[in-house]
Amino acid sequence: MARKWNVGQINRNSQKFVRETKDPGNDHGQYVWVAECQRETANGVCGHIYGVNGSDFWQRKCPACQGGRPGLPFSEMR
Ligand SMILES: [Zn+2]
Repeated sequence: MARKWNVGQINRNSQKFVRETKDPGNDHGQYVWVAECQRETANGVCGHIYGVNGSDFWQRKCPACQGGRPGLPFSEMR
């Protein structure tokens, strides 16, 4: 893995790492991380919340406003 992410950090696509879950992702040995879109849109900050593989977080784009791949399901929704 290229780098370690800390909760609250934001990737190059304005996606914030909210927290790690205990749900398995769909990449080898990965867990689902919760991401939140911090991108400014015409209606304010997007705020879309979705699941990603931890290994994939660095390059993820928002499924709602950037045409990213659909998020992974996670059980600890809140
Ligand atoms: Zn978004």
